Amino acid sequence: MARKFVIANQKGGVGKTTTTVNLAAALAKLGRRVLLIDTDPQGNATTGSGLDKRALARSVYHVLIGLSDVAETTQESPTGGYAVLPSNRDLAGAEVELVDFDERENRLKDALAAVDGEYDYMLIDCPPSLSMLTLNGLCAAHGVIIPMQCEYYALEGLSDLVNTIRKVHGNFNPGLEISGLLRVMFDPRVTLSQQVSAQLAEHFGPKVFNTIIPRNVRLAEAPSYGKAGVVFDPSSKGARAYLEFGAELIERMEKGPL
Ligand code: ATP
Ligand code: MG
Repeated sequence: MARKFVIANQKGGVGKTTTTVNLAAALAKLGRRVLLIDTDPQGNATTGSGLDKRALARSVYHVLIGLSDVAETTQESPTGGYAVLPSNRDLAGAEVELVDFDERENRLKDALAAVDGEYDYMLIDCPPSLSMLTLNGLCAAHGVIIPMQCEYYALEGLSDLVNTIRKVHGNFNPGLEISGLLRVMFDPRVTLSQQVSAQLAEHFGPKVFNTIIPRNVRLAEAPSYGKAGVVFDPSSKGARAYLEFGAELIERMEKGPL
């Protein structure tokens, strides 16, 4: 069975997509079969994986409303070594259309079941909202990875997310847990970064991943080449951190039962 993670944080621009794309490429480099699922109408994970979001005949939108299945919608990332269930702005309309479906929060979960045996990991990138799309991601996953910037306002909003996860756990998906908080865009020269990072580690203990992702311009440049940072410049600090994170996740996941 594939291990499924949703990369969620309703704050915008906190590194969700960068984490999803780089983790997908890192896990692929480590020999795992990976499916990246883009549930954001912005389609950043799609373009960041080297696919043209404007040229999609089918996207996750078609899957969610039942016009296409996952296998026929999935494309290989030409750069990353993983498969992508792509997205574009078509998906912006899905929220409204899904209202007509029973169990609309389980549309993604049900669709992914058909390809479960084909992948070791599925990684779901979410939009910056606690919307029906994010809810579909949370209902489809075993674990939530929460990327967080180590800044003053980082913890603000975390309680909303944690409450949402708790509700989803209670009402829809009893298998869901918080896999961990991932500290991203870390700048060791900023004292506040270090303080917030230490605070997170203290408050959340083992729920904070050991790996810290530094702020690194190569990670920001890579998407414009349609590549994950770990592919674009594997020796950069950011790429090395995401590779380390992939190894940490494998270590955590594969040593025990699912
Ligand atoms: P949205 O909420 O809009 O989906 P997001 O949470 O997916 O945003 P990203 O798109 O991954 O966030 O990152 C926001 C911006 O920060 C992007 O320009 C990205 O290239 C940059 N960025 C992300 N992580 C890093 C990093 N570790 N170092 C430098 N730049 C980064
Ligand atoms: Mg994003």
